[in-house]
Amino acid sequence: MLKVLKFGGSSMADAVQFAKVKAIVEADPARRVVVVSAAGKRCKDDHKITDLLYLCHAHIQYGVSCDGIFDMIRQRYLDIRNDLGLATDLESEFAALRKKMDTGISKEELVSRGEYFAARLMADYLGFDFLDAELWLKFKLDGTVDQEATYEALQRAASGRCVVIPGFYGTMPDGTIKTFTRGGSDITGALAAAALDADIYENWTDVSGFLMADPKIVQDPQPIERITYAELRELSYIGAQVLHEGTIFPVREKNIALNIRNTNQPDHPGTMIREAFDEQEVPDNRFITGIAGRKNFSVISLTKSGMSSEVGILRRILELLEKYNVSVEYLPSGIDCVSLVVATDKVAPCIYQLMGDLQKEIKPDKLHVIDNIAIVAAVGRKMAFKPGSSGKIFARLGENGINIRMITQGPEELNVIVGVDNKDFANTIRVLYDSFVK
Ligand code: ASP
Repeated sequence: MLKVLKFGGSSMADAVQFAKVKAIVEADPARRVVVVSAAGKRCKDDHKITDLLYLCHAHIQYGVSCDGIFDMIRQRYLDIRNDLGLATDLESEFAALRKKMDTGISKEELVSRGEYFAARLMADYLGFDFLDAELWLKFKLDGTVDQEATYEALQRAASGRCVVIPGFYGTMPDGTIKTFTRGGSDITGALAAAALDADIYENWTDVSGFLMADPKIVQDPQPIERITYAELRELSYIGAQVLHEGTIFPVREKNIALNIRNTNQPDHPGTMIREAFDEQEVPDNRFITGIAGRKNFSVISLTKSGMSSEVGILRRILELLEKYNVSVEYLPSGIDCVSLVVATDKVAPCIYQLMGDLQKEIKPDKLHVIDNIAIVAAVGRKMAFKPGSSGKIFARLGENGINIRMITQGPEELNVIVGVDNKDFANTIRVLYDSFVK
């Protein structure tokens, strides 16, 4: 049994958090591969080390002294080391880094050092080997991960060992350091889990899993206990803030379960994500797994009599959107009409040209745009087996005075999506939550 664990910035923030990490790792001998983020915030007004490193680089670029910020970073890690009573030689490493900053260091190399120092300390503290990501996480020239080379290199470097790996970065073919986009340590953990065929990828953070709705809209939403990869994709696509978007693919491809856990509440089971669940295990009558949504969509509607039998008309419409590089989010259609749901900020710069082109090329009987539309998705794998789910959703929204402007359901019956006016957005989410979750 092998478990790969990733600890986010808040789990690495200070010596107290390091101690929690150690207790979690030592509680299970299968927890042998640990990926870490840079130290994060200790309290609301604190700074993330990665932010400070980006700031250092900006100072260097503009020729302004970054000594004060650099000292904050250095001191943060020295404090953790001293508080934990470790002997890790950070002084000479920080001195070498400072020198390199004077002679020329790339932005990506500099910002990657937050994870590097965090991993060095955690390795010493756990008594694990430090395994630098630059030795195995390989990018291709186009900036994507070279999965084959990466997996092979990690299998060679880590098999049979207990290791701590810095997240967030790897190397380009010429050996220079490249980072993922922000939050990318999630991806490092997923790649490590996939490369080593882990039984589970535990992603430890500061919340007890994903919530069923946005806590800014719904008061104290319940956490999601179990969610499939497909449901998670639906929810994160429409707006739920979850993991870094590149995280899912490597673990899903290898059918590895992903468990979101809370370092500050280690006994809470968090959210378990799998390809599928044996639904008999935990009977649960709720048919909604989560609710998410986003505001500010535009709906372009075209009506043309005989449209349904005009072969190729959809392709011609979509080609026009492609011409302006606007992606279509949803495409509800009737017999002689079709609506294109697009993000307003993407279509706004070209809306007049696009409407002109649609008029000229498609010759619709009616063509109009409605702005200020919000999309809300109720996602749930059990909807497919529960007759009347969508009926109940529409009825509750109607009873609460919410006018549904658009309805769509994916062919997998994994979601019911409604378009409502922007002003009804929060209320739609609240009504769905109160009616079907609470
Ligand atoms: N430290 C990096 C960031 O703050 C990467 C990560 O934590 O995942 O974005």
